[in-house]
Amino acid sequence: MLIDRITEGLRDPELAGRLSRQIHDAATRPLRLMEVCGTHTMAIFRHGIRSLLPAEVELISGPGCPVCVTSAGDIDQIIDLADRPGVILATFGDLLRVPGSDCKNLAEARAEGANVEIVYSPAEALKIAQATDRTVVFPAIGFETTIPVIAATALEARQKGINNFKLLVSHKVVPPALYALLGDPELAVDGLICPGHVSAIIGEKAYEPLAAKFHIPCVIAGFEPMDILSAIYLLVRQIQDGQARVENCYGRVVSREGNPRARAMIEKVFEPCDAQWRGLGAIPGSGLALRPDFSDLDARTAFGLVFHDVPEPKGCRCGEILTGKVKPPQCPLFNTRCTPTRPVGPCMVSSEGTCAAYSKYGGL
Ligand code: SF4
Repeated sequence: MLIDRITEGLRDPELAGRLSRQIHDAATRPLRLMEVCGTHTMAIFRHGIRSLLPAEVELISGPGCPVCVTSAGDIDQIIDLADRPGVILATFGDLLRVPGSDCKNLAEARAEGANVEIVYSPAEALKIAQATDRTVVFPAIGFETTIPVIAATALEARQKGINNFKLLVSHKVVPPALYALLGDPELAVDGLICPGHVSAIIGEKAYEPLAAKFHIPCVIAGFEPMDILSAIYLLVRQIQDGQARVENCYGRVVSREGNPRARAMIEKVFEPCDAQWRGLGAIPGSGLALRPDFSDLDARTAFGLVFHDVPEPKGCRCGEILTGKVKPPQCPLFNTRCTPTRPVGPCMVSSEGTCAAYSKYGGL
């Protein structure tokens, strides 16, 4: 079968054309498929996947951009800490321009004198802590993909006795958010393109209860054009056949069991907690917090931070975009007051944000 050849030609135009024709043939009614992951959103735009699909197949973006789903209240805490004397905020660059509730972002805080360092890994933040007497805070944002490496850094900080390294943890895990999304009667989705990187950790089997409960097909995909087209084809075929199974077209990376060692590392350092998602609100058990054994690493405890549930930037519809209810052109600020150079909301800031993808590549 054609999809068995994906590893031979992940970007082969001839194979892509043939798979596109198979999707056209298989899709006999309107279907809405959600790509859960922000990296998929960008790949879909970058490779022009939408242009290969029939009008019946609509792709909608989901809540899989970690920066975008980080609540405005969490962003405020990060900016608050950056402004404190004696603190070095060591962060990934994608947080730099995410506005807080008063529209100020980390880049502006840095311009006003806050000590904000861009790092490419939590290990780099730990190295900064080793070389300074100041307190180094790393905002721990991300899904199952990035959490193991942050857990490893926490363990290293503990083992080396580096006491001035703190984590501001806003980690989120994907399955509870999918339950919340699919339980929303306003969201009519026929199938899920499941995230490749997250699935490498949680495994195929993590989606099986979800597929059964909501009778929704789930297909795990990689990030090459043929990965995504193959996933769409499998979803369309399942839907037409009335099936709701978990399939995996990213078998070169994702196994049924996932990565138990990485999960064990996560469980050693973190425990489940409720979390506030931009767009989805509070979802029970959808976040991770440091275990009591690691509370000395907790920036919230060290600085007595209190979470405030603050509103979205005025006029920004990121919350509805992250839940697939509207598309960026439906936001009155899209490409007018909100642009990649002057973003109003996180979906325009992040390299995985849906508004950024629409703005960069166009599309409806
Ligand atoms: S276009 Fe800008 S303001 Fe509108 S939803 Fe997207 S990020 Fe928010």
